[in-house]
Amino acid sequence: MAVMKFIPETLKNLFKAPVTTAYPFEPAEYPERSRGHISIEIDDCIGCGMCVRACPLGALKVDKNEGTWEINRFDCIVCGYCVEKCPKKCLSVQTGYQTPGGDKTSELFKKSEEALRAEAEKKAEAARKAAEAKAALEAKKKAEKTEA
Ligand code: SF4
Ligand code: SF4
Repeated sequence: MAVMKFIPETLKNLFKAPVTTAYPFEPAEYPERSRGHISIEIDDCIGCGMCVRACPLGALKVDKNEGTWEINRFDCIVCGYCVEKCPKKCLSVQTGYQTPGGDKTSELFKKSEEALRAEAEKKAEAARKAAEAKAALEAKKKAEKTEA
């Protein structure tokens, strides 16, 4: 009988470990290269907007002055273009999926106070150096004029 052919396979499977996982009772296991979601190391972001320009879905928003980076995960298809373009390498594709939710809201990331302070200090230092260089140049020009 044809059904007899399945008996050895059935018996073999009885003693084999399951090929599926018991999620959600056990943590989900994702293949190494699966595209789950985009993640950001926000304190390393310089607000250049390269990711925003690279995104074909318009899923990203960046506000350099506020130090924020925003992603609409309902629009994002995890293509990874933004990750490729980021000059600071602060974006990455993570394997796990986000927790499901019913609200179509964007997820907002904001730089830490410490990072914002460090950035402001850096800007102030650059402005001070530029002002000093300008003053030195003007003094030099003035001195040259007086000599002439
Ligand atoms: S992964 Fe693709 S769709 Fe998602 S934010 Fe980046 S560029 Fe946009
Ligand atoms: S490309 Fe990178 S550094 Fe530039 S705004 Fe996007 S996340 Fe920030």
